Amino acid sequence: MHMNPLNNLNFSGGPGALPESVLLQTQQSIMEVPEVGLSVLGISHRSDWFAAVVAELEANMRKLLGLTDNYHVLFMQGGATQQFSMIPMTLLRGKTSPAEYLHTGYWSGKALAEARREGEIRVLWSGESGGFHRLPENEELAFSPTAPYFHYISNETVEGLQFHRVLGRDDVPRVCDMSSDFLSQPCEAERYSLIYAHAQKNIGPAGVTVVLVRDELLKDAPTDLPGFLDYRSQIQAHSIFNTPPVFAIYVVLLITRWLLNDIGGLSRMAEINRDKARLLYSALDGSNGFYRGRAETKDRSLMNVTFNLPNPEIEKRFLAEAQTAGFSGLAGHRSTGGIRASIYNGLTLQAVEQLVGFMEDFERKRTR
Ligand SMILES: *Cc1c(COP(=O)(O)O)cnc(C)c1O
Repeated sequence: MHMNPLNNLNFSGGPGALPESVLLQTQQSIMEVPEVGLSVLGISHRSDWFAAVVAELEANMRKLLGLTDNYHVLFMQGGATQQFSMIPMTLLRGKTSPAEYLHTGYWSGKALAEARREGEIRVLWSGESGGFHRLPENEELAFSPTAPYFHYISNETVEGLQFHRVLGRDDVPRVCDMSSDFLSQPCEAERYSLIYAHAQKNIGPAGVTVVLVRDELLKDAPTDLPGFLDYRSQIQAHSIFNTPPVFAIYVVLLITRWLLNDIGGLSRMAEINRDKARLLYSALDGSNGFYRGRAETKDRSLMNVTFNLPNPEIEKRFLAEAQTAGFSGLAGHRSTGGIRASIYNGLTLQAVEQLVGFMEDFERKRTR
């Protein structure tokens, strides 16, 4: 049995676990934000309080990532899925050379399908025939210098594959979906022209998507896009083009305060996340093949630890017993099956220790 007094431990692929201190502040704010005397659920997005929330959140993002002034920080709606469309609408329409994409897993497949509606795409590398168990090496990637942009996903949430380096050419705009590892470690943000990440994996509840976009990237963008889908009109409106998700944005602010003040920045967050992942992967590697890691070792994700047990029957048993013991959300994505332990920022080292304890007990009972 775990020790968390609040609820079950959330190992889900998303929406993910949030730190207890942030949940407690969130709980308080639903009753009353003291400075305003209202519930956060009923505070106007036109209020001075909300303008200050957006300003502080933007400043915190800039501080955490060391972002320079030529980047805009946007808080948008529509999830990462809307970015799958907005990016090619903005950067691919009317272009003569194809945009370059990697097909490294479930989510990049979704991004690709949306991009193809807007123009020509060249898939530089696909892991589909190999079942998405690994990521490409540099030697396997022939980038073109004339692509309007290059798109990839830093962490494939479903398969548990993560790039541990920056990809692409410096002279082609780099566009990255960081939804499931954003703010889990420093990311050399200045090397990307556009980074997007919805909040619900690592940095808050569903409803808001962070977009960091370099000003120069938008200079040739079409002028006839719907206002809502036009980065420039969103920039002009300071993320209040229409009624924004005030609640979700406020929780993301609390997360950035927690990262800055309680954790001490992204380098420290990365150390904690590495410790958590090391513990869990050592448990897999030390199990004599009872727990089998899904991803090739060099491409293992620090956020989503995917593995299998000797057969689907035992996996079912494992999931049922884990749920009873208070470990929630461990079932692998419906497209892959197996087990996935997602260990986002909000999940503590103690929670991972408890899961490893449970796994060792489960293994002992089965292999004795
Ligand atoms: C979950 C996920 C998505 C989908 O995000 P929505 O906000 O549901 O649109 C996209 N990309 C990655 C990497 C994800 O993990």
